[in-house]
Amino acid sequence: MLRGEELYSGKAKSVYRCERDDALILKFRDDTSAFDGEKMESLDRKGVVNNKFNAFIMQHLESQGVKTHFLELLSDDEALVRKLEMFPIECVVRNIASGSMTRRLGIEDGTDLAPPTFEFFLKNDALHDPMINEYHIESFGWADADAVAFMKARTFEVNKILGKLFADANMILVDFKLEFGRQGETLYLGDEFTPDGCRIWDAKTREKLDKDRFRKGLGGVVEAYEQVAARLGLQL
Ligand code: ADP
Ligand code: UDP
Repeated sequence: MLRGEELYSGKAKSVYRCERDDALILKFRDDTSAFDGEKMESLDRKGVVNNKFNAFIMQHLESQGVKTHFLELLSDDEALVRKLEMFPIECVVRNIASGSMTRRLGIEDGTDLAPPTFEFFLKNDALHDPMINEYHIESFGWADADAVAFMKARTFEVNKILGKLFADANMILVDFKLEFGRQGETLYLGDEFTPDGCRIWDAKTREKLDKDRFRKGLGGVVEAYEQVAARLGLQL
C-alpha cells in the first residue's frame, strides 16, 4: 500500500492518504506529548511499540465483537485503517480515580469507583479539552443522540473486555480514552488504544506502566509500555 499525501499531523500520529478511498494510513511517531502539548519529547521506539500494541488490542476487540477501524499492519510503525469522519469527542471510562478527576473533584488518587464512571471531553487543545455532557454534544451538533448512546455503551463494553485482559495479566486498567467515528451509516472505534491513552497499574504494587511515567518524569516510559506488551503475551 503506497503512502500518499499527508492529511494531518497530530501530536503523536500522522495521517496519510493511500490508494484506497475508504482507508487511511496512520503512522505512529516517537513524539510524546502531555499537558495539551506543553511537554514534548521524542521517545525512542515508542512509535513501533504503540503501533503493534494498538494492532493487538484492536484485533482483540474485533474478536469480541467490537467494530474497529483497524484493517492491517503495514510496517513497524504504520497501520491501514478505515477512513472515518471522527466525532470531535473523547470518551473516558474510569475504574479508579486518577488524573484530572482527582484535581477537579478533590478525590484521593487511587479511590475505587464502583460503578465505573464515564466522562465526555471535547477534543480542542486550545480550550484544554474541556469536559462536556450529552446535551452539549447534541446542542452543538458534535454527534446525534444515537451516536452518543452508542459511544457510551461501546466504551463501557471495551472496559469490560480490556479490564479482563489486563486483570488476567496482573494489571489494573485504571482509566482510558476512546475516540469514535463514522463511515457511512456505521460507527467504528477509531484512533488508538495504547499506554499513551490509558492508565495501567501493576495489580500488586500499583506501579504506573503508562504515560503517567512521562507526565510525572518517572523515566522508563517505553520500557514500561514494552513490559505491558510482554505481560499480555505480545511479541514486539
Ligand atoms: P491529536 O490530533 O490529538 O494530536 P494524534 O497525533 O493521535 O492526535 O492524531 C491522530 C488524528 O487522527 C486524531 O485527530 C484522530 O482523531 C484522527 N484519527 C484517528 N483514527 C482515524 C480514522 N480512522 N479516520 C480518520 N481520522 C482518524
Ligand atoms: N487521555 C488521553 N488524551 C487526552 C486526555 C486524556 O488519552 O487528551 C487519557 C489519559 O491518558 C487517561 C484518561 O484519558 O488515561 C483520563 O485522562 P484525565 O482526564 O485524567 O487527564 P490527564 O490528567 O491524564 O491529562
